[in-house]
Amino acid sequence: MGSDLVQINTSPNVQPEEVRVGGEPLFSDDAVRGKTFYIETFGCAMNVHDSEKVAGTLMSRGYRPVETHQEADLIFYNTCSIREKAAEKVFSRLGVLKKAHRNGSKIIGVLGCVAQQEGEEIFERAPQVSLVCGSASYTRLPDLLEQVEAGNRRVTGLELDTEDCFETEFTRRDNPFRAYMTIIEGCDQRCAFCVVPMTRGPERSRPSERILADCRRLVDEGYTEIQLLGQIVNAWQDSSPERLSFAELLARIAETRGVRRVRFATSHPRYFTPDIVEAIESHPALCDQIHLPVQSGSTDVLARMLRGYSREQYLEKIDCIRRSRRAISISTDIIVGFCGETRQDFEQTMTLLDAVEYDQIFSFKYSVRPNTAGAGYEDSVPEDEKGRWLAELQEHQRQIQLRRNQALLGQEFEVLVDSYQPRLGQAVGRTTSNRVLNFPGAAEWIGHYMKVRVTGAGPNSLVGVRADQNTGADGFTHPRISNPA
Ligand code: SAM
Repeated sequence: MGSDLVQINTSPNVQPEEVRVGGEPLFSDDAVRGKTFYIETFGCAMNVHDSEKVAGTLMSRGYRPVETHQEADLIFYNTCSIREKAAEKVFSRLGVLKKAHRNGSKIIGVLGCVAQQEGEEIFERAPQVSLVCGSASYTRLPDLLEQVEAGNRRVTGLELDTEDCFETEFTRRDNPFRAYMTIIEGCDQRCAFCVVPMTRGPERSRPSERILADCRRLVDEGYTEIQLLGQIVNAWQDSSPERLSFAELLARIAETRGVRRVRFATSHPRYFTPDIVEAIESHPALCDQIHLPVQSGSTDVLARMLRGYSREQYLEKIDCIRRSRRAISISTDIIVGFCGETRQDFEQTMTLLDAVEYDQIFSFKYSVRPNTAGAGYEDSVPEDEKGRWLAELQEHQRQIQLRRNQALLGQEFEVLVDSYQPRLGQAVGRTTSNRVLNFPGAAEWIGHYMKVRVTGAGPNSLVGVRADQNTGADGFTHPRISNPA
């Protein structure tokens, strides 16, 4: 999905003592006792969740989270290199740090995709950095931290060839109701534009029995919405004796007592099968939302991108989703200006928007990435042309979204309230189709499920009013009581 800068809220209210396993006090070395950390996360949901696990690992060692790098003894940047701009962001952050912390009293680490891509070069470009660690080496993080804490100044975790997933009992989650869970790491596709296989390593799936045990544990901890993550989430394969298919896994998670919502991203069209739609149809807890990146509407461009499907084959998958008895919302990712893309190719992408009528798109100008097949082609579309195409695409999609959202006026939806905007007196909820719905509310409603009637619609969000004012003694539908599935 779209990559945005996300800053992990290092929630200083959570003290290390609260991260316990089975009631046992955690390891806390004298060397780190009382020390603080700050993590800034760039990029996708998988990075956000990795940072939650890194934060948990640090807290299990006695570190305490703080909200700014100025207060922190240890500063980590968890980075994204999906596009050049994203990769450059971390170096600009490191530049700021260099000026701010000249005396070298802080430990600075670069994690994630830029770490993997640039490797030890980072120490040359930013000598204030002591740790460079790619996501495929996170299982070694406690060991690497020990080396840094012992005073080593060029510690690396850069091995890519691993069969392990980053499994840890320590995860400091940022959202108390919605939990991320990685089910598959790495990527074995070789899309011509994409750097992920080179930064996250080969595909490796977690066994279903461990995934299901994690779901039960999350429910016990009060989570009602689970978001399954993977670069290609539907390429997941079960190494447990049960050998569940991806669709069967979805069904089993949805049937877990206490789970009210399940989402999954990102699906690849090549592995998208009708049984996934059937599972959504028969399990209300599976959200009516599918993110299915198309990248381009032109079969020629798709072939050069090495995506493994044509426009027509993609549209067959869309037909299968649209035939469902549930109105499933569809979103996608699109790249404009890929190598060799012509105006005619781009127009094919524009007509695809009309053919599918997406509820949301994440769109990007093509950015050449190192070590990809695309890096060997000519980046033939000028930057300003890419910019014009992107603006045209986004404006067209804006109209489609406005029309689709306006068609929902008067309908009622259940939302999970995410946040509250005090200035506007508005609660902000999400429907199962992942639409944002704002309505007059109160801060105490955060984390509750409520029925809301749509009274207004814009291209990116809806507004409404409570439609279940009289239900329950306090007017709430409580999230932890029942599973409608
Ligand atoms: N693994 C997912 C897949 O293959 O569909 C994509 C994950 S990527 C984090 C999110 C999106 O970034 C991609 O779907 C694509 O649209 C975009 N993207 C990836 N590489 C890009 C590049 N070199 N230039 C521009 N956009 C890119």
